[in-house]
Amino acid sequence: MGVTPVAAYVPGHARPPGALSVVPLDVLEVLPSAIRVPRLTVVDVRGDPVLSGTDRLRSDPGRGGGPLSTRTMEETARAFALTNVAWCARRLLDVVETYLKTVLPSLRILIGTHEKGARRWGGGHYRLPASSYSELPEPSPVDVPGEVHLGSGRAYVHHDGARYLHAPGHNVALVSHEVAHHVCRHIGDLRLNRLRPPRQQTNHRTAVEEGTCDYLAAAMIGHPDIYGWHREHVPISDPRRRCLSAPWTMADFRGGHDADPHADGSIWACALWEARSRAGEAGHPGESVDRLLIDGLADLGREQGVARSPESRRARRYYGTLLSRMLGACTDAALAEHLERVMAARGIRPGWSNARARDVARGFG
Ligand SMILES: [Zn+2]
Repeated sequence: MGVTPVAAYVPGHARPPGALSVVPLDVLEVLPSAIRVPRLTVVDVRGDPVLSGTDRLRSDPGRGGGPLSTRTMEETARAFALTNVAWCARRLLDVVETYLKTVLPSLRILIGTHEKGARRWGGGHYRLPASSYSELPEPSPVDVPGEVHLGSGRAYVHHDGARYLHAPGHNVALVSHEVAHHVCRHIGDLRLNRLRPPRQQTNHRTAVEEGTCDYLAAAMIGHPDIYGWHREHVPISDPRRRCLSAPWTMADFRGGHDADPHADGSIWACALWEARSRAGEAGHPGESVDRLLIDGLADLGREQGVARSPESRRARRYYGTLLSRMLGACTDAALAEHLERVMAARGIRPGWSNARARDVARGFG
């Protein structure tokens, strides 16, 4: 089909979810319930057809659709989710692939998963095939390169003075976060899944990965309050809001099996965001920090011979390890100094373990 105008929310100056726009998308094929673009397929798995030829590619978001909306609004909301998800996923993948001059393995994104009967799901996650899943079991085999799963949406938010169903496929930041896990898996491979049997990979993610995904989501929407749209009721000072303009330092780091990697990861994400926001002080645009992060991940992904050393495997969890790789990839002294200074103010130092950084930040070092 080639480049086709489709409907999507474009982030920027508009309030979340973004400005409703018509954007160009390289479409390979339109199926009744799916859209195929290069190395990405987005499927609505709820059974009935959503698209008919190219007719529905510029659908209205229908205020998210949902059980309280009209049938027409529900249909257009589902069609809109397909094009919106395809566009914002491709946007992040394009940044990474263009910069690294590589292509990532194909990604499948399923919308309407993990729902039984009337029970709806309002979340999203990235899944790799595993021997078991800690929650939400998989009814059918997961693609070996990885899949993003999105629910239909459960909660309503206020938008433009009226009710709007928070459909995960309408939320650019949420979709970008999940697609960023695909980038982490195949560029940085932080959990060394490439060394595991393809159907026995791990879905346990570390804080450094969650923070990296939050940062890439913020870079994609150009704003630190990535979840402000659907977590408006959570105060900005609450770690669950995951706002990247928060002041978290390594003194707030918890670590361990009981800690939420998303909350701990916010420290890393906030430090990166501050480096990006103030990159002008070092004479660079904010995007140069995105590039250093991608370079740092790629450097970790190329690391050989780590399988036999428990310590070097553990070190892949440390913010200090990824920071070292970013600094190693940096060819500009002013930018490296800027990054190191911003990170140090949060207690993150090159090469340090998270526990050491936390202890020093709390004054026990
Ligand atoms: Zn995540």
